[in-house]
Amino acid sequence: MIGKIYKSTGSWYLVRDDSGGFWNARLRGSYKIDGLTSSNPLAVGDMVDMEIEDNIQQTAIITEIHDRKNYIIRQSPGHKSQHNIIAANIDQSLLIATLKEPKTSQGFIDRFLVTSEAYHIPSTIVLNKSDLYREKEREKFEYWNDMYARVGYKIMLISVIKREGLDELLKILEGKTSLLSGHSGVGKSSLINAILPLQQLKTRDVSGWSGKGMHTTTFAEIHELPGGGQIIDTPGIREFGLVDIPKRELAHYFPEMRERLNECQFNNCIHLNEPGCAIKKAVVEGEVFEDRYISYCKILDSSDERY
Ligand code: GDP
Ligand code: ZN
Repeated sequence: MIGKIYKSTGSWYLVRDDSGGFWNARLRGSYKIDGLTSSNPLAVGDMVDMEIEDNIQQTAIITEIHDRKNYIIRQSPGHKSQHNIIAANIDQSLLIATLKEPKTSQGFIDRFLVTSEAYHIPSTIVLNKSDLYREKEREKFEYWNDMYARVGYKIMLISVIKREGLDELLKILEGKTSLLSGHSGVGKSSLINAILPLQQLKTRDVSGWSGKGMHTTTFAEIHELPGGGQIIDTPGIREFGLVDIPKRELAHYFPEMRERLNECQFNNCIHLNEPGCAIKKAVVEGEVFEDRYISYCKILDSSDERY
């Protein structure tokens, strides 16, 4: 039987089979994934083979893990050398942010975009709480809208409270597995509650999952959308870990820089002080937004890797 991991708590997994049935499953004791030091080798979104253990209790044993299309990791808190896989097989990633209460910085957005580029996951920026925006925020949105559109990213406005922009958002989510991230306070939970039918969460409880005494809110979880498609919620995780990007590669993850890289005089240019740098020239000529270049410099500066 093939299934998809909908929730992972470390040793137990909630798995959905092809016909929509849910199983509480464990990895077979002897299962080892080579090369992974993770204590938690499976993540939400993983596809697995499983064998039924108990049809009444709906428990199963996971016997095989399918190859992943992609996955995102974060550094284990407290163990810098260890990584946890947060989610696998993601079609796109949405950053929920806002221009007010609490204001999201462009630096944060650009770090998110760079990470998504590095993972090869398409991303969209969703600005919530548009009902609170005054002239200043509207101008900022127009500026970002123009800038990100030119770089190749979609940025959209929603108001969960006024239920504005949600239809457009649901269109983007339709038929895809989408990861939702965002700082706390931006309205991510409100958004999830607004787009998911309550019914679904209740049904989930009946399966006995909550009876296992697990805290249901602190683990990544997949939710089925009524119109098709799924969202992955990662409670408590504001941003996923930046994979170790060598300084010389960082510009590859800024699409507007990537297309100009081979015009630099030196092929190991990191676009700071080198002569004949096409990126700096493009900034001066207004071809690359200065604010994006500033984000680039900040990320470069925060990387501990030497060059
Ligand atoms: P989370 O931490 O990202 O999950 O954020 P919550 O969903 O808990 O929301 C944080 C606060 O923002 C709550 O007080 C919500 O009522 C409020 N909020 C959420 N969406 C909106 C919105 O569209 N407009 C306004 N004005 N407030 C919102
Ligand atoms: Zn350069």
